Formats: sequence, structure tokens, C-alpha cells
Amino acid sequence: MKINTRSVRFRLTVWYALILSAALCVFSLLIFGLMEQRLMGDIRRGLDEEAARFEEFVQREVQIPDVNLTDEIEEFCHALPSSSYLNLRPTAGGAPFHHPAAVVPPHVHYATLTRAISIQNRPYMLEIGASRAEMHRALELLQALLMSLVPVVIAISCLGGAWLSRRALRPVDEITSAARAIGIENLAYRLPAPGTGDELERLTETWNATLARLEAAVAVLWSFAGDASHELRTPVAVIRTSAELALRRDRDPEAYRDSLREIAAESERMTELVEDLLFLARRDSRDAGMPMGPLDLRDVLNETARELHGLAEARDIRIRVLPGVEDATIAGNPAALRRLFLALFDNALKYSADGSEVTASVVSKDGRLVAIVEDEGIGISAEDIPHIFQRFYRADKARSDGGHGLGLSLAQSIAAAHDAVIEVESEPGKGSVFQVSFVHRAAIELAAGSLR
Ligand code: ADP
Repeated sequence: MKINTRSVRFRLTVWYALILSAALCVFSLLIFGLMEQRLMGDIRRGLDEEAARFEEFVQREVQIPDVNLTDEIEEFCHALPSSSYLNLRPTAGGAPFHHPAAVVPPHVHYATLTRAISIQNRPYMLEIGASRAEMHRALELLQALLMSLVPVVIAISCLGGAWLSRRALRPVDEITSAARAIGIENLAYRLPAPGTGDELERLTETWNATLARLEAAVAVLWSFAGDASHELRTPVAVIRTSAELALRRDRDPEAYRDSLREIAAESERMTELVEDLLFLARRDSRDAGMPMGPLDLRDVLNETARELHGLAEARDIRIRVLPGVEDATIAGNPAALRRLFLALFDNALKYSADGSEVTASVVSKDGRLVAIVEDEGIGISAEDIPHIFQRFYRADKARSDGGHGLGLSLAQSIAAAHDAVIEVESEPGKGSVFQVSFVHRAAIELAAGSLR
């Protein structure tokens, strides 16, 4: 099996092994040190007791008349453990007493105790030693046990750790392979929830939520593409029929001209539709370069109104732009905003009776600049209002003079790019009021420091 040294599983196991080894080493050293101290303490206590017993014994013996003290001490020493020794040296000089007679001078393997005592009012130095060999053997055994068992414990724990981390991370592998199988054609698929209530379950839920959003976005794109091709079918069919009819038999030049005019008009409609679609598609993919700069909203309204002047005049409709506020400066893109207001004015004209009036103004409301386009036209019913900003939505589909149902969705998309909001109030038969509220440029400058 190939080991991936960068996998979480491997790194978890290695860290686990390192930490465990360090902990076990500290633990072993502690145990060893404590044991040594404890055994040493036992030996010292034994020596203390032995010395006290010896002193007591000597004091008792000297009370007895005619006793041979050296013989008695000899006897006492025979009762001592064979690994011990005892030296008794008169401090003032004289022959010392040794037990056993040929004792090796105390060396490292002996624990010793020296104590000044007095026998029959003469000072002596008593030295008792006990072998530490026993203690060393016990410590060696402990050391051998620790050194052989600790690696085994570490090895078993590492195997356990590796097994545990594999078990814990198995859902990740499952999620990964399930996620790999998801493509645009099966976006409705959802990852199976592990049901563990842990981080992995949260990860799965997040993934599934992302998939749901993607699915919805792709559905919008599909329906957009479907609607777009559907809308394009009509003008293409009209052009084709006109051309086919004209070609079916010989006609006089005027009839050809009529057909060509129809084809030209239909082509123009188609061009407009394609341009609108392109604009919306670019806004959707956010790649539309829309450089913003300071501009006066009233200028935009005036320019747009001027553009539609001819169209309005032909229907005896008056477009009035009221003076409104003093400073109507916002940060915006002039071409895009002209497009926005063109859509609003265009609708106001389209859905108004000949001889009526369309009014536009910029007012200041709640710290925002609001551009208002108001008409006295047919109005919009309450049921239609929530839908009019949807693509291809048209309240009265039977009307042939209407547009493609893209104007308002375009307007809204441009407004959104300007952090503006479009609101509509309308009463059927009385007219409609469209309000686009922008952030005042001064407010933007305050918020962003300066305008790029
Ligand atoms: P269209 O190209 O059909 O005008 P829009 O997206 O511009 O598409 O508008 C969507 C629908 O909203 C229109 O079909 C119309 O029914 C309604 N509408 C928009 N503006 C007005 C208005 N000023 N007066 C009445 N109805 C309007």
C-alpha cells in the first residue's frame, strides 16, 4: 500500500505517535526516579534503625558486670544481614572493630551511615553500611520492563491511531468520490449525509447547499437560454416568411420594397433583442466593464428625454423634466444609466394614451437621490407588479406594440450595479410611478474615502 505522507491521516498518526512517545518517556523517567528514591529511603531507614538498635544493645550490655563487650558486639553483628557491614572506631585512637573482619572499604554499591556514640563514657564513631545491590537489581528490572514495554505500547497505539483516523476520515473519502461524480448534468444529486452530527456532517450540508444554489443558477441560465431562443424564433420566422412570400412569384417593385421594409423592421427588433440579451448576459457574468464616475442624474434624464422627443411628439405626448434638487450628483456609468431611463421612458410612452404627459424629476428622500418617471397611462395591476422585473414577463402579452419583456429586467440589473433600487407604484387606468433611488455621491465619498 502506498502511503501518502501529506494525507491528514498520516500526519495525525505521526503527531499522535510523537506526542505519545514523549509522554511515555517522561512517564518512564518519573516512575524510575520515584522508585529509586523510594528504595533508597527504605535502605536509609533500615540503617537508622540498625544503628539505634546497636546503640541500645551496647548500652544494655555494659550494664552487665564482667561481660566481654567485643564478643557481644560480634554476636550482634552476626544477626545483621549478610550484605551489611559495621565499623566501630574509638575517636581518641585505638584498635577499631570491623564486621565482617575483612570488610571491603565502603564503595559505591553501599549506602552508609556514620554516627558518634559513646560507650562507657568513651567516644566512638559508628559506621554501618548496607548493600545497594538489591536495589540496583530491582531498578534494572524496572528499566528493562519499561524499555521493552514502552515501544510495544507505542506501536500498538500507533496502529490503533491509524485505524481510528482512517475510520474517522472515511466519510471524507466518500464525500470526495460522491462530489467527483457530480457534473452539470446531475446537479440535482446531493451528497449522502453521514448522520454523525459532526464537522463532516456540516461540510456535507454546506456542499449540498452550494449544489442547490448552483442548480438554481444553472436552471436560471437554462430558462434564460430557452426564453431567448423562443423570443428570437418569432422575428426569424417573420423574416423568413416575408422573404419566402416575396420570392414565391414575380411582384412589382413596390411589393418587394414592402417585404424588404418588413424584413428590415423585424431585423431591427431582433438586433435590439440580441443587444438586450447580450447586455443582460454580461451583467450576469459580471464581466461587463462598467466604469463609474461622478455624473448629474438630471443630465441623464434630460438627455434620455431628448432622445425620445421625436417619438413622443409623434404621439402628442409631452415629456417634462422638472428642475428638482440642486445637487443630483451620483457615481454612475452614463451609458448604462441612459439605458435604464430609456427603458422607463420607453414604457411610459408605450403604455400611455396619445396626448398624455410623462413627468420626470430628481428629488432627495431619506438621504438618497430618487429619480422619478411618472406617466398617466394604463397602469399595472397589483398581480402583475411583482413580476414585471422578471425577464420576458409582459403583463399584456396580446399587445403587439410592446417590447420583449426585457426592458425592466435590464433596468433593474443596471440599478443593482449602481447600488440603486427601483420601486413602482401604479393604479390601473390612472398611471404608474417608477422611482429609482441612488446613494448620494457625497454619501459614497464619506463611506469610501474618495471616488476612483
Ligand atoms: P416590455 O418590453 O414588454 O415593455 P418591460 O420589461 O419593460 O417589457 O416591462 C414589463 C411589463 O411591465 C410590460 O409588458 C408592461 O406590462 C408592464 N409595464 C412596464 N412599465 C409600464 C408602464 N409605465 N405602464 C404600464 N405597464 C408597464
